[in-house]
Amino acid sequence: MTNSNNITLLASGNPGKLKELQAALSDTGLVLQPQSDFAVPEADEDGLTFIENALKKARNAALHTGLPALADDSGLVVPALGGAPGIHSARFSGEGNVQNNIKLLQEMLPFEGEDRRAWFICVLVRVTSANDPTPLIAEGYWHGHIAKEPSGTSGFGYDPLFQINASGQTAAELSPAEKQTLSHRGKAVRTLRQKLER
Ligand code: IMP
Repeated sequence: MTNSNNITLLASGNPGKLKELQAALSDTGLVLQPQSDFAVPEADEDGLTFIENALKKARNAALHTGLPALADDSGLVVPALGGAPGIHSARFSGEGNVQNNIKLLQEMLPFEGEDRRAWFICVLVRVTSANDPTPLIAEGYWHGHIAKEPSGTSGFGYDPLFQINASGQTAAELSPAEKQTLSHRGKAVRTLRQKLER
């Protein structure tokens, strides 16, 4: 049943994340609304870790609305690049998704035929209020490789460059349901759901 008690603010304006999280939580009764609906100012993502940034975003959203909030801090980690883009995944190029992917391909050029391993990480944090002393924290990982060229049109962000298996299929070639089964976000959501049910 939907009522105002079920509303949880999504501390993000990323439509790709909103779509995936809404689908994964649709049967829990939680109604996710993006913080852009409430004109919440962006939190400073100046933490050193995904967890710190997720907590900051969740607390910021709860503070400005008085509602429970869910934050997703996620990104792509490439060992050959010293862990970049990492916590800076969204703003890697400073010019949005398309340029982020172009920059990633360029930076991977010296690693042609070498270590192209990569993984996505997703940290979800749910707070009931801005000062919640016991936030729920869940994380998920997805291991793969960086492709040499983009492929596929589903998903968002780095999905067209993220190869998930030896046949070279990318995350952007999966259906939303397939991505949810395999992805870092899908895994984090399943852990979060277990914690919500306790
Ligand atoms: P955040 O909003 O600061 O957490 O940045 C997350 C960024 O990581 C996104 O803007 C994407 O660039 C990247 N990212 C996170 N999850 C995914 C995913 O599932 N697919 C592709 N890129 C992702």
